[in-house]
Amino acid sequence: MLIATLFTITLATIFIIKKMNNDRHINLDHAATTPILTDVNTTVYLTANKYPANPSAEHLKGIEAMDQIDLAKDKIADLLKCDAEEIFFTSGATEAINWGLTLYPYYELLYSPTEHKAVLNSIGERSRKSLHLNEFGQVDIASLYTDLQKNTNTIVVAMHTNNETGIQNDIERIGELCSVTDSIFFCDATQAIGKYFVYPKQQHIGMMAFSAHKFGGPKGIGALYIDKKHHDYILPLIKGGGQQEGLRAGTLNTAAIAGFGKAAEFANKTIADRWALTNYLQEAFLERLLEHLPDTKIIGASFEAKSPYIVTVLIQNIESEALMAYVGDKVSFSRGSACNTHSNTHNWEPSHVLRAMRLTDDQIKGACRFSFDSGTLTPADVVYAADVVAEAVREILAADAEVKEVAKMNHKS
Ligand code: PLP
Repeated sequence: MLIATLFTITLATIFIIKKMNNDRHINLDHAATTPILTDVNTTVYLTANKYPANPSAEHLKGIEAMDQIDLAKDKIADLLKCDAEEIFFTSGATEAINWGLTLYPYYELLYSPTEHKAVLNSIGERSRKSLHLNEFGQVDIASLYTDLQKNTNTIVVAMHTNNETGIQNDIERIGELCSVTDSIFFCDATQAIGKYFVYPKQQHIGMMAFSAHKFGGPKGIGALYIDKKHHDYILPLIKGGGQQEGLRAGTLNTAAIAGFGKAAEFANKTIADRWALTNYLQEAFLERLLEHLPDTKIIGASFEAKSPYIVTVLIQNIESEALMAYVGDKVSFSRGSACNTHSNTHNWEPSHVLRAMRLTDDQIKGACRFSFDSGTLTPADVVYAADVVAEAVREILAADAEVKEVAKMNHKS
């Protein structure tokens, strides 16, 4: 009887362990979005319940709701070391970018071709010129200087951290050049806020877009920072009631904004620690992946201006799309920006970022973006993910070789 019970328990344990292993899923796609932080979730829930009034209402309950919005704005302003009135809430970075790029419509845009599609597709009919890049896809500072000397009335559009490669522009120097040439610096800092200290005032950034969901906040809420000196020139984005100085009308989402503020507060306290942990995770992942697949190329390997949160690797002789599908039940990653995915569902479209970095289409086909988050991942998770990816690459290549062999034999006979 005892032996039978032990046997049953052992079998059940093996089954549970197997099931746990099978169910193990590692998310390495945090550049697309991050899980909402528990404290943020609680804040959103409590705020929605405690402050249901319209924050623009003049009665007591409306004023209390508006206080929550002001509190959140102060936390975001603290993170950015700017004034609260320089922050305008939007539905996310995409909206903030679209809005920011309507300002100063007669200025010429000097933009980096590695910008996110939210920038490239919202430039519209504006007069524009593409900036020169160096081999890492960064805006080339020397040629930017030449361009700025030749042009007046210019907006320089350069992102902080690239969402595909994690490579960062030299924000300090771009800001300085804009300041001395009286140009406006528009920065998409969506992949940087909450991960790096970005101080638009100190860095001479005139406008800056970002989203809460990229650093533990809720989805559907973001902001456009606009330096006070441009406030007289803001064109309204949405007309309606007088909310947000009548510039972006519509009832404010008190709960989401409170969550945004909470995420900013958390980020402010933990940026350095999370950076170090995330860096460790990315290094552990790459070390293991390269142990298995030594021919893999890391974009921007050992380059200092590179985010630990995002890396793109080029795996040889593999199509990243096939690899993603193969490991999909165990590891999530992406082959570029998640926002590009629905732009062309049937035809493969090479990443414009990697193309601008002069990579060949063949190299781009094997491009895989892995992105990390220290709040949910452990070193064991990333090592396991590297093992799964490498094993899948071996299996795909072996199957491919077999198909080619059969085709060769059929051809001969
Ligand atoms: N800019 C960058 C660099 C991004 O990575 C993203 C999203 O991936 C966006 C803009 C758009 O952000 P959202 O979808 O939150 O509007």
